[in-house]
Amino acid sequence: MNAFDYRAPRALDEALAILREYGDDGRVIAGGTALVTMMRQRLVQPRCVVSLRDVEGLGRIEVRNGAVRLGALVTHREAETSPLLQERLPVLAETFRRVGTIRIRHMATVGGALAHADPNQDPPVTLIALGASVEIQRAGGRRESPIEKFFRDYYEPALEPGELVTAVTVPLLPAASGASFIKFLPRTADDYATVAVAVRVTLEPDGERCREARLALGSVATTPLRAREAEALLAGARLDESLVKAVGDAAKRATDPLDDHRGSAAYKREMTAVMVGRALTQAWEAARASARGAR
Ligand SMILES: Cc1cc2nc3c(=O)[nH]c(=O)nc-3n(C[C@H](O)[C@H](O)[C@H](O)COP(=O)(O)OP(=O)(O)OC[C@H]3O[C@@H](n4cnc5c(N)ncnc54)[C@H](O)[C@@H]3O)c2cc1C
Repeated sequence: MNAFDYRAPRALDEALAILREYGDDGRVIAGGTALVTMMRQRLVQPRCVVSLRDVEGLGRIEVRNGAVRLGALVTHREAETSPLLQERLPVLAETFRRVGTIRIRHMATVGGALAHADPNQDPPVTLIALGASVEIQRAGGRRESPIEKFFRDYYEPALEPGELVTAVTVPLLPAASGASFIKFLPRTADDYATVAVAVRVTLEPDGERCREARLALGSVATTPLRAREAEALLAGARLDESLVKAVGDAAKRATDPLDDHRGSAAYKREMTAVMVGRALTQAWEAARASARGAR
């Protein structure tokens, strides 16, 4: 590892000022589960490492204006076990539960899951399907980004030097809605996904036709992605076998996977269609149950 300055500010303003001072040469550390490895491999060699651990106010999970807001320092384990998240957005709590091992989940943070921008990560997939937005701050400014615009390329988040992820905001599900996350991992239970799929379906009040759907995929391209062609097929449609097949095929066309030890590109494409069919059916069933409950 290269030699570096280490700073542990207690206030957000202080952290942002340090990042401005170091620009490209500064790196934030949150859980450290990815950064430490990248530094050991000399993939990154920051002059200054800024720990977020002691920064006040970044570790809360709260409901605000019809959305759940997760601070950047919330750990995966805290998200997974949060009664609030389990009750209001169970699909998101379940997604965090599926990440790696419990040791990783105790360390890795919500901000790190976004800023690391590894296309094999699970939380971004569900966050895209749920229509989340990322809160970003720099010294003297703040902006929000729809999450699907946050992933520029392989390991490349849409963050400028000096910017920090401070939170992610996730709208609660509208009435007559259901959501599902499926992580297909044929090797070991703590592996990254071969294919990950998240679907959110909102039905018309009749509980039969789809009003709106969002479908996101992970591990099958250089970024997590939204399968918009597949989503368009769902608007106004009723669920039957031919729809499930058409949506699976459209999702498959959105992928551009790599051959690797988790499967060939061809296998990942086929499994995308299969997993999309399953996730769609599950989300639709949940949306139907929600519509019935509302009547
Ligand atoms: C063995 C192993 C298995 C794993 N399996 C999975 C899995 O199956 N699914 C999954 O989703 N994840 C998995 N992970 C976790 C994932 O790959 C990342 O390691 C983790 O999400 C990074 O979070 P962190 O808080 O530890 O980030 P760090 O390691 O602290 O930081 C990672 C990067 O993000 C930047 N960063 C962190 N926080 C912020 C912030 N708030 N604002 C701006 N930049 C920031 C850092 O500068 C660095 O570039 C696994 C990790 C390991 C080590």
